[in-house]
Amino acid sequence: MKVVIIGASFAGVAAALEVRKKQSDAEIMLLDKQSTLGYIPNGLHLYWENKIDDLESAYFITKEQLGKQGIRYCLEASVEKIHTVHKTVDYLRHGQEVKIAYDKLIIATGSSQLSQKISGSSGESVLKYKRHHEAQAALAKMEASQSVTIIGAGQVGVEAADLLSQQKKKVTLIESMDYVLFKYFDRDMIQPLQQKMVEQGIKLRLNQTVSSITTDADKQVTVRFGNEAITSDTAILGVNVRPDLHFLDEHIQLHMDQTIAVDRYMRTSVEDVFAVGDCIQLTFGEDDDTVYIPLVNNAVRTGIVAAANLIQPERTFKGSLRTIGTSILGYYIASTGVTEAESLFTGQTVKAYRQEVRLTSLPDADTVTIKWLYDAASHVLLGAQMISTSNILEKINTVALAIQTKQTLEDLQQKDYFFHPSFTQMISATNVVSWLEARDDGNEN
Ligand code: FAD
Repeated sequence: MKVVIIGASFAGVAAALEVRKKQSDAEIMLLDKQSTLGYIPNGLHLYWENKIDDLESAYFITKEQLGKQGIRYCLEASVEKIHTVHKTVDYLRHGQEVKIAYDKLIIATGSSQLSQKISGSSGESVLKYKRHHEAQAALAKMEASQSVTIIGAGQVGVEAADLLSQQKKKVTLIESMDYVLFKYFDRDMIQPLQQKMVEQGIKLRLNQTVSSITTDADKQVTVRFGNEAITSDTAILGVNVRPDLHFLDEHIQLHMDQTIAVDRYMRTSVEDVFAVGDCIQLTFGEDDDTVYIPLVNNAVRTGIVAAANLIQPERTFKGSLRTIGTSILGYYIASTGVTEAESLFTGQTVKAYRQEVRLTSLPDADTVTIKWLYDAASHVLLGAQMISTSNILEKINTVALAIQTKQTLEDLQQKDYFFHPSFTQMISATNVVSWLEARDDGNEN
């Protein structure tokens, strides 16, 4: 069986490794237009944080690791067309056109930092740095810049604003919503971090939609929004990523937003063609409705699911909870499942409960603020958000598992946990018991 995978990033590599595990004699070929393999998209942030010495260290897989698994790869191979009737793929490599045949095809071409709504956003002076070569260019440009305008206060934009303001750059962050990180947090939960951004000198321009970006002869970048404009040495595009699927043939069905439509087995509308990662929409939780959630964990998990279903449908995708965790401006923040703000648009009656819990039994114990979202009638957990100055990030994975397995608040109170005074208090922070709060600010409503 010849399996061709287009895209050798998280989704494509996960699919390749899982295919190898399941089909020891399959011929596996990964194609990617990049010249490097397995670059981690926020490598530049790791470098700015001094966590790595150079961008060369930001890799999640090596050629040797793939080689050991007998997985072939071809880099600098840009796929230009697929022919699903003849089961062939055309790609360009160093100016040469190459055609290869497949028995099973996995499309894992991901997404790029693109915006069709902001004119001028594709220009070189508007930095994007998901790929290794883009990050190298952005690094050089940023070192030579004193001021930067960041468009989009999502995870990428807010992390960049923090790291660049620590380098004493003049940072302006523009966001069309009325608070930062709105996809993952309710306003009340993210307020302390937003306040800290302002205190650190980051100029926040909320409720502003960027319309155009221009670069003048002196390479100064002007970002326009409403009747206003800001000019700086450079700009960063931190808005939603989008897939580029120009190489598909007419048989592959797309959603309105031009992502590939797949079922829960990651099958496209064409037999033997699968799609995974950032180029598809996913089910959110148990819902049948699909949404676009471009995150690494979804890329990896959909890659594994597609590989498991190549011969026959065996394993369904369990859905995404949009779980994230990061550290910004001295806060550790994490989120999974629905937010209170978005729950207003669902038919379900969702209740919120906020608590501040001490993390250890020691006199100087730090606290974590947790907001729980649950179904009013059944008490089934639907979402959670956390913020603390201690590293509580791993706790969000416990909560994500609880949501995936449909635990109620009462089930969580019975969750088994370890006690050690140095690391926990009498009860674990993720056991949702109200009588151990550090301060009674819960607002059950
Ligand atoms: P991608 O990583 O986009 O990879 C697709 C691959 O396909 C690329 O290598 C591309 O070159 C190749 N390709 C595309 N078209 C073709 C073609 N025609 N021919 C050949 N090859 C092609 N998510 C998180 O969960 N946590 C994070 O911390 C995080 N940080 C991020 C930081 C930044 C700056 C950005 C932009 C995104 C970040 N994300 C993060 C999102 C994350 O990068 C994506 O969800 C993830 O990379 C998706 O993996 P993928 O394999 O589906 O696609």
